[in-house]
Amino acid sequence: MKIVVVGSVAFDNVETPFGKVENVIGGSATFFSVAASFFAPVAVVAVVGEDFPKAELAFLRSRGIDTAGIEVAEGRTFRWTGRYHEDMNLRDTLDLQLNVFAEFQPKLPESYRAAEICFLSNIHPSLQQSVLRQLDRPELVGADTMTHWIQDTRGDLEALLRHVEVLTVNDEEARMLSGERNIVAAARKILTMGPKSLLIKRGEYGVLHFSPDSVFAVPAFPLEQVFDPTGAGDAFAGGFVGALAKCGDFSPPSVRRAIVYGSVMASFVVEDFSLKRLRKLSSEDVEHRYRQFVALTEF
Ligand code: AMP
Repeated sequence: MKIVVVGSVAFDNVETPFGKVENVIGGSATFFSVAASFFAPVAVVAVVGEDFPKAELAFLRSRGIDTAGIEVAEGRTFRWTGRYHEDMNLRDTLDLQLNVFAEFQPKLPESYRAAEICFLSNIHPSLQQSVLRQLDRPELVGADTMTHWIQDTRGDLEALLRHVEVLTVNDEEARMLSGERNIVAAARKILTMGPKSLLIKRGEYGVLHFSPDSVFAVPAFPLEQVFDPTGAGDAFAGGFVGALAKCGDFSPPSVRRAIVYGSVMASFVVEDFSLKRLRKLSSEDVEHRYRQFVALTEF
């Protein structure tokens, strides 16, 4: 199955307790698509400025990612600056510059329209909605968001959620979106807002999956060194959706396996800054860690 993803393609400045990097490649659609490309064909919808390196678009293509829907516009690429706390489950956004995204009106290439899966990764909900409207009839629609959009564009986000089957958020986003403190109560409330399936990402504590009649938990892979959590959520979504696209069915056992693949991809991203770890990752590495995950949770 083919996946179409919309989201940010960005320059990031990131500071963690282990170091600081500037002007590195980031963005929700970037992390998502690279992670998903280990499993299934992915096509990206985004915009970059003239300052975005052509070599990075070539890198995406080298992973088999379709970049026909990435527009190169006059102006500067989206920029995000973030700083992680000592407890790296917490981070602050220090600066966010939409730049070329401010005026972006996505127009999907004809070849994208028949995609069976659509993932609306973190970006303005009206852009997410616009991409969804241009697809013929996706069999699965997933979405992600951030506190920024929950606070500033709640109406647009709530309208979008009515068309979303699978939503991925972290604890803080789940609480903010639902108005509930308790995470289970938050999940129950979000499941009345549109999504039939909710994934709550809990950083180093793993992920919880809620559906109307089940709860499923997967730990994060225990790593000795976590350098930079940026992109973990997007890589999780890419691995999860990619694995579903590869097996072609959305049954509960497939969803559970896909959650483990999502956790595998997230565990690689955090081992280094930006895309560094994913650039040298092989499919064998992915399968090896998947087997380690199975051993970790078997009893
Ligand atoms: P994650 O760590 O998975 O939440 O994703 C981090 C990535 O999201 C970074 O590479 C940023 O460039 C990008 N990002 C941060 N804030 C936003 C935002 N408000 N909209 C879209 N992308 C964002």
